[in-house]
Amino acid sequence: VDRRVDVAIIGAGTAGLSALKEVSKNTEDYVLIQDGPLGTTCARVGCMPSKVLIQVANDFHRRREWEKSGLVGVASLRADLSKVLAYVRHWRDQFVEGVVRAMPKPGDKFVVGSARFLGPDVLKVGSMTIRARRIVVATGSRPIVPKAWEAFGDRILTTDTIFEQKTLPQRLAVIGGGAIGMETGQALGRLGLDVTIFDRSDKVAGLTDPEVNRLAVEIFGQELSLHLGADVALAAADDHLVVEAGSVRLKVDKVLTAMGRAPNIETLDLHETGCAFDEHGQPVYDHSTLQLGALPVFLAGDVNQHRPILHETADDGRIAGYNAVRNEAYCFQRRVPLAIAFCEPNVCIVGRRFSELAPDSFVVGQIDFSRQGRAKIMGESRGILHVYADPKSGELLGSEMLAPRGEHLAHLLALAVMGHMSVIDLLRMPFYHPVIEEGLRTAIRAAAVQVKGGSERQEVALCDSSAVSSLN
Ligand SMILES: Cc1cc2nc3c(=O)[nH]c(=O)nc-3n(C[C@H](O)[C@H](O)[C@H](O)COP(=O)(O)OP(=O)(O)OC[C@H]3O[C@@H](n4cnc5c(N)ncnc54)[C@H](O)[C@@H]3O)c2cc1C
Repeated sequence: VDRRVDVAIIGAGTAGLSALKEVSKNTEDYVLIQDGPLGTTCARVGCMPSKVLIQVANDFHRRREWEKSGLVGVASLRADLSKVLAYVRHWRDQFVEGVVRAMPKPGDKFVVGSARFLGPDVLKVGSMTIRARRIVVATGSRPIVPKAWEAFGDRILTTDTIFEQKTLPQRLAVIGGGAIGMETGQALGRLGLDVTIFDRSDKVAGLTDPEVNRLAVEIFGQELSLHLGADVALAAADDHLVVEAGSVRLKVDKVLTAMGRAPNIETLDLHETGCAFDEHGQPVYDHSTLQLGALPVFLAGDVNQHRPILHETADDGRIAGYNAVRNEAYCFQRRVPLAIAFCEPNVCIVGRRFSELAPDSFVVGQIDFSRQGRAKIMGESRGILHVYADPKSGELLGSEMLAPRGEHLAHLLALAVMGHMSVIDLLRMPFYHPVIEEGLRTAIRAAAVQVKGGSERQEVALCDSSAVSSLN
């Protein structure tokens, strides 16, 4: 053994860096090991560059409303894709630089190289052997590309490569209608590409509520070609690719794969730790402690495949880091589930999703945004929002939505679910006029009247009511 440390962290992404913050509160005796480019998936090829692209695309798309509203000169606007992609990279570089600036510099505490296990507490990095009392595995994930498709070379794009393109050809197929496929596909369609999205399921952007999903497919289908419910096969032909799905046969120039992400575990030799694996070959670990069996190893971030979104990977890092410097593994509560796909309208899921609720165990309140005042003013009067509530207590259980500015409604609802608020309590908060939140109130009202005793309750509390305080 060349080195002994208290804690070794493998991976300097969001999870690894947040574990590092937690660990360094307690010990200076740690090593961070990183292989591959610095700057985190989020800043380099994930959340941040994708949101820059979406912002530009949505700005450009707004021109259709401007034209109707009396703003002139719109017809001469055009999107120069190569400049847009350069702009995305400009911001990407700023975000990456910010992360790298705040990181430790390569040296004693930060080793560059690929780590693999020789035993439950021993790692090999290059020629160096490191023994650590605890090890945090935070190696992230990578886009899935079927092996056979690798033969198509650079005609296959992933989110790792798309932002690096100098420009993009006209015909693009996106394989995968999850959050990443839908938001990236819609953005590129808005910037002028002919985008077709394929998915083997009939659901988009992670929705499980059939009614919300049906409208999402209809609304997104007005902008993009969507082919759902059939497996995709790819073939190469001269200068293009042919996508086949069910009865559809489509010629495209490039394909963006957005078929999910695989955990980076293959090169870790995790079997050397003696850990158990499930039927999918994933190491078995505890979601609330992140510990791998009873081993001194913790699995944090996308690599554990539990909730591969940023705030959850950061929490994973905190939990793993906290436990890595203690003698027992503490159990942590997880946050109210919150997922947002930045399509327009936003697709958001809060708390318990439709598919997790037993039939007939909940009531549904709905708002149709096509009639909502502020949404009309913004030229965004499309979408539907469902809230789910307990029919007896009125407790808000969750929501699925396709909503203008849904990202903000979702945060409000997450706070209410976290506070175990009932839909009746929620109606007692102030709603300014005219705001999108008034639409949310319509859905909550529709749920409240179905709750036991809900139709008799006043939205304005009586003075002798024990309900929510007022600041009189
Ligand atoms: C296009 C896209 C858009 C997204 N948008 C959003 C969004 O809007 N909101 C949101 O919440 N989430 C979003 N996500 C998800 C989010 O980016 C991830 O959940 C998060 O970045 C994962 O962080 P991580 O620390 O687990 O992994 P990473 O940041 O990937 O870090 C893992 C690190 O470990 C290194 N590594 C791997 N193997 C080894 C080894 N053997 N030895 C040493 N080092 C190793 C890797 O090189 C990498 O640097 C998006 C993801 C993508 C791809």
